[in-house]
Amino acid sequence: NKASYKWRRVLLKVSGEALAGDNSQNIDPKITMAIAREVAAVTRLGIEVALVVGGGNIFRGSSWAGSSGLDRSSADYIGMLATVMNAIFLQATMESIGIPTRVQTAFRMSEVAEPYIRRRAVRHLEKGRVVIFAAGTGNPFFTTDTAAALRCAEINAEVVLKATNVDGVYDDDPKRNPQARLHDTLTYQDVTSRDLSVMDMTAITLCQENNIPVVVFNLNKPGNIEKAIKGERVGTLIGA
Ligand code: UDP
Repeated sequence: NKASYKWRRVLLKVSGEALAGDNSQNIDPKITMAIAREVAAVTRLGIEVALVVGGGNIFRGSSWAGSSGLDRSSADYIGMLATVMNAIFLQATMESIGIPTRVQTAFRMSEVAEPYIRRRAVRHLEKGRVVIFAAGTGNPFFTTDTAAALRCAEINAEVVLKATNVDGVYDDDPKRNPQARLHDTLTYQDVTSRDLSVMDMTAITLCQENNIPVVVFNLNKPGNIEKAIKGERVGTLIGA
């Protein structure tokens, strides 16, 4: 029963890069299927799962802005559209294994997905459906990490679970320094004052202001998503 798990409602953030894996295509279907299977397992336990999906595997606004006359806002809208592609892919994968899933977009694309309506999203979750929030916050100059923090606060989810390609937050770059140590826990202040590259400042301060803990963990290790959602120890926990 759900009372025995740490969280009842979680916000799982999956970055675009994590979806790509080492596939030369933008999306590795093995990864989307692994996510779907693990999410299925926890929804069966009664834990409510909402997702925010990134788009960096397809298009990242900041790295395109400026080139060939592309202004930042236009580049960011393309980036937000990229997140919709990932969301639809994930939804199709989830539904292929029988998890009812709704995509809600931050700007209207009503032929493709529902518009974001907070109360409706909550209702879906209560009915055991997975909700995927796409198109970030709907605003240029923001990131999907900020969208994750924002949606988490809005739907009263208890935690942001940030699924990445690394085990958590290290005290140094583990690729360059084999001695680098993984932090088990960090405070928001550690993250902001030491400028640790966990999430951008807007996202982490939004979590801090709303007392939303953040767990950073590696989605490539089988079972990790399930563990993170159940509230078992994995990766780095950031809190007050
Ligand atoms: N984006 C945006 N506003 C948002 C969220 C995302 O403009 O609220 C754009 C931005 O260009 C970003 C791209 O969408 O680079 C993809 O999102 P993000 O880089 O956060 O994806 P991730 O790093 O998680 O793959």
